[in-house]
Amino acid sequence: MANNEELFKQIIAHAKEYGYIFPSSEIYDGLSAVYDYGQYGVELKNNIKQYWWKAMVQYHENIVGLDSAIFMHPTIWKASGHVDAFNDPLIDNKDSKKRYRADVLIEDHIQKIEDKINKEVEKAKKRFENFDEKMYRSTNARVMGYQQQIDDITARYADLMQRNDLAGLRQLIIDLEIACPISGTRNWTDVRQFNLMFSTQMGSVAEGADTIYLRPETAQGIFVNFLNVQKTGRMKLPFGIAQIGKAFRNEIVARQFIFRMREFEQMEMQFFVRPGEELKWFDYWKKERIQWHQSLGIPAENYRFHDHEKLAHYANAATDIEFKFPFGFKELEGIHSRTNYDLSRHEEFSGKKLRYFDPETNESYVPYVVETSIGVDRMFLAVFSYAYREEKLEDGSTRVVLRLPAMLAPIKAAVLPLVKKDGMPEKAREIMDLLKRDFLCQYDEKDAIGRRYRRQDAIGTPYCITVDNQTLEDNTVTIRDRDTMEQHRVAIDQLPTILWQKLRLCGK
Ligand code: ATP
Repeated sequence: MANNEELFKQIIAHAKEYGYIFPSSEIYDGLSAVYDYGQYGVELKNNIKQYWWKAMVQYHENIVGLDSAIFMHPTIWKASGHVDAFNDPLIDNKDSKKRYRADVLIEDHIQKIEDKINKEVEKAKKRFENFDEKMYRSTNARVMGYQQQIDDITARYADLMQRNDLAGLRQLIIDLEIACPISGTRNWTDVRQFNLMFSTQMGSVAEGADTIYLRPETAQGIFVNFLNVQKTGRMKLPFGIAQIGKAFRNEIVARQFIFRMREFEQMEMQFFVRPGEELKWFDYWKKERIQWHQSLGIPAENYRFHDHEKLAHYANAATDIEFKFPFGFKELEGIHSRTNYDLSRHEEFSGKKLRYFDPETNESYVPYVVETSIGVDRMFLAVFSYAYREEKLEDGSTRVVLRLPAMLAPIKAAVLPLVKKDGMPEKAREIMDLLKRDFLCQYDEKDAIGRRYRRQDAIGTPYCITVDNQTLEDNTVTIRDRDTMEQHRVAIDQLPTILWQKLRLCGK
């Protein structure tokens, strides 16, 4: 049984081998933390986006979509606070010359203590049968000790981050005796702030051209279009604007595959509400979003909320939905009650009113905002890593299978003639024609049927339709289920209905 690190490596290798994800610019040795999605990856990604869009825009009459440009007026990033405060605290090791995020070094240290707790608990569970009181007490004491350490470090760390105390962060790294993983030394520089936005020049002449930024989030495009959408769509509060698009961050510690990339995609929704009603809507969106995740059929124990205790100065509530990735629970989605901060700042910087006239109260005001923000790529990694399994079969062989939720799977059905003769390929082509307008299907006649089934398992195709001798006599085929590997015989003309039933496109 692979440990988590090995498992993660296998997942990355599988994603490449089966055309899901390739390193960017691979023939030039790649570009750090940038990835390309292959023929199956792009389908899975599109299906995730469609699943989100349907749940947000199609199912909510008061949410509409938007596609704003990546380039925006540079003052937007002044108003949003990104020019002055979208920073990561960096620290260098003087011996290895490697650069780290100070906050990540501390969080990794906390994670290591958490791992120790998990190990103790696992050990205790294994010895449960002959677990006596003495053992209980010593395990308990160790776990309590570790927990106390975590609480102390977390409290000090949160306070330093809140006060932006860079010298204090450095001191905490030294006090915790954190060493550079490369050089093994604790020879650290001061901590400095590093802005995460990529910038470029607009216009053909560099001098006199304005510096503009590649957007680090899609949300600001929504805020600056708030009145355009509200007026042209005759939207009444509460209402939401949803957007899917690329975002760019010059991440220093870009690692863990597509979990942290420099170019990634976000699915964000800003929900505009009456002042005073934001916490009610915050709770509503917490419930809606966790339900969306669970509608995919991934068991609930893979998700948890992490409520923020220390809030950004503009927020009055915030939580992360964390997912159990192969490297532990990490943020997958953020839900934030952002008050009227962003719209007010854009009023201030643009000099234009961004107010809503409320016909019920006869008042004009700047609405409050609850935001849900999820990374497409992180969602991809969550689904993909959960789906990846190596299974031992009854006959002693193993198979690698991607148990992707059927509605997200790239290929919905493979159509396979049992052999390449006797009119079976022609019949299989007829079935392709019957299905391909509604479902992305794949025709495959190469190799023995068992190998073709394994290949579709590895791609995550939920159904294989096989044309055999009997098909030619009575127009029936077998349909094989990826997860149970069971096969049933059905009439060809029933196939579209059967697939529609099995692949309900949105599980909500
Ligand atoms: P983290 O703490 O992991 O850096 P964040 O709190 O900065 O994330 P947000 O600014 O709240 O993230 O962005 C919303 C969502 O966008 C995140 O929950 C995540 O799914 C996604 N996201 C953010 N940064 C990246 C990145 N560098 N690569 C991939 N996805 C990202």
